[in-house]
Amino acid sequence: MRMILFGPPGAGKGTQAARLLERFKVAHLSTGDMLRAAVKAQSALGTAAEGYMKRGELVPDQLVCDLVVERLAQDDCRLGFMLDGFPRTVPQAHALGATLDKAGIALDLVLVLEVPDDLIVERITGRRTDPVTGAIYHLRFNPPPAEVADRIVQRADDTEEACRTRLAKYHGETTPVLPYFEAKGIVRKVDGVGPPDEVTARVLAAIG
Ligand code: ADP
Ligand code: ADP
Repeated sequence: MRMILFGPPGAGKGTQAARLLERFKVAHLSTGDMLRAAVKAQSALGTAAEGYMKRGELVPDQLVCDLVVERLAQDDCRLGFMLDGFPRTVPQAHALGATLDKAGIALDLVLVLEVPDDLIVERITGRRTDPVTGAIYHLRFNPPPAEVADRIVQRADDTEEACRTRLAKYHGETTPVLPYFEAKGIVRKVDGVGPPDEVTARVLAAIG
């Protein structure tokens, strides 16, 4: 399976990806996770990306595309991959298309998780993650168990202000990517509102 998990920030892409990876043995390519790892390692990429991320702006296409193209060439992507948070701009979609064409690979599916903006702010500001396991929690919707409650952290960009910027970028720069994939007939839209288990059931039905 070669798919893209698409949707606004906080739609539940990471949450659903973790569940899908229990069933499908494919590589998980989250550009957000990769960029955060680069920031933590203080690599040249991390240093260049950090300011954009903190403000909720998009990291320049060239940096993100190089990262993804390099990652897609690794062995574990041969049997399939789940792109999460990429592509986020039309140039990124074209760069991905060119890379896959060159490798003779076709995408199976672009799965769009639809969640209205007013719910997004609540999901983002309540998001917490476990730095040890990477598990994603929410203070209200999915509270962490007592044994990890002391170590959960909030992302630097999960403030209301950065969230509004990210939503504006999503509507302005990311949704224009969809017609490119719609022309290939591979877009499936799924309602991302409701308990995570229900969303997972809808996602699995859409994957077929
Ligand atoms: P994304 O990867 O799209 O940014 P996440 O999976 O990190 O989104 O989810 C954002 C926040 O919303 C997290 O705190 C997560 O626990 C919570 N969340 C995810 N799915 C749901 C859902 N179906 N209902 C309620 N909260 C959810
Ligand atoms: P969320 O799903 O909550 O928006 P991500 O973890 O996917 O968060 O991304 C966090 C930040 O990393 C984005 O706000 C952006 O600054 C940067 N980023 C991630 N993926 C991309 C991408 N494909 N293009 C540009 N910037 C990206």
